[in-house]
Amino acid sequence: MNNLLIQAESFFDGRQNHSAGPYLLTIANGIIRDICELRSSNGFPANDAATTRLHTAFVMPGLVEAHCHLFLDGGELDLARRKEYLAAGRSQMLSTGRANLAANLAAGITLIRDAGDIHGINTHLKEEISHASGVVPELRSPGRAIRKTGRYGSFMALEVRDAAGIENTIETLAATADDLKILLTGIIDFENGCVKGPVQFDLEETRLIVRTARRLGLKTYAHCNGPEGLNIAVEAGIDSIEHGFFMEPDIVKKMADKGTAWVPTFAPVYFQFSRPDVTQWNPATLDKLHAILQNHFHNVAGAAAKGVPVVAGSDAGSYGVPHGTGLIDEVLFLRQAGLTVQQVLSAATAVPRQLWNASPADVAVGQAANFIGLDDSPFKDMNSLRRVQLICRNGQAVKPDGTSPIVASPLLSQRN
Ligand SMILES: [Zn+2]
Repeated sequence: MNNLLIQAESFFDGRQNHSAGPYLLTIANGIIRDICELRSSNGFPANDAATTRLHTAFVMPGLVEAHCHLFLDGGELDLARRKEYLAAGRSQMLSTGRANLAANLAAGITLIRDAGDIHGINTHLKEEISHASGVVPELRSPGRAIRKTGRYGSFMALEVRDAAGIENTIETLAATADDLKILLTGIIDFENGCVKGPVQFDLEETRLIVRTARRLGLKTYAHCNGPEGLNIAVEAGIDSIEHGFFMEPDIVKKMADKGTAWVPTFAPVYFQFSRPDVTQWNPATLDKLHAILQNHFHNVAGAAAKGVPVVAGSDAGSYGVPHGTGLIDEVLFLRQAGLTVQQVLSAATAVPRQLWNASPADVAVGQAANFIGLDDSPFKDMNSLRRVQLICRNGQAVKPDGTSPIVASPLLSQRN
């Protein structure tokens, strides 16, 4: 295998920033063998045909997208076309999913957790990835989610009616699922500034869901908004709250005590607020949306301060949230909430990998080379996250379009 030498001005290892560079990272056989400071700054060692030399300003672990729907194109804003698409054939959905995988990779995302799709396109894509060569993102798939019969979530979830249905359905899903996705409440009613409809599962049912999932080795993540559902989710031991709008400080405290993760998904709600030209909301609804977002920023900051594991997930595929760029927007929303740069970068790298027992991607000696290069440090400019120069997985480096392996001719400027 081709060896890689990467010169970086600074790097983030997944938890900490290292800014006393420049540094030289040596990668051999897909493993980071050495990271040293280039104090004398002679640049790369003498030429060696078997080694590719690259220069990038900043290295950090490959990003994690914790919540998206790969079969949906979030950039499609025509509501009629979105509706029509839900009846599209499997091959069209698969090609949308493949394009969305590529968009994730181009944004520097190397681990994706899908959040449910009734067609199972997510699981099909995971299977494709397992046979793919070259640089592809890693995918966790729940397959189909579960919801209460007749309630919200038809595009992503199977219906369960009672305790027997819960157990049987989870047992079936467990054959291919990496995690169990649950729809615990409805969606947000933007016009009234509240959650639509009652909770889908009561505390006893949610406990049964968690117990059954754990018995089958699955972690649980729940679409959940509003205090009633949030209290049930946390009380029942759900591993991760998705969305979590209308959060309250006492629930945050319980989450911190229990180690419940939170994926706050600002992006789809921010789109509703920021694009009235598209969404056609009137000023009164925009005021409601503004209040919902302000409350969310405030609660997410409080959660991070109390030690709740906050995780970046954009809900890409949702209306107005494209894959790839949606996650970068989400990371910037976490920063806007008041999390430190270090906290937001961890929320999109080491924190979810650790929570999910996924293979680590820390930029550290002995770890698999699973990192990205940016043209500047996010500690200086958060928008540098939008300027990915290279993606390296298991020692193979590619350009953001994923198509051109950097082997024969180094793509980036070399310094000597
Ligand atoms: Zn979702």
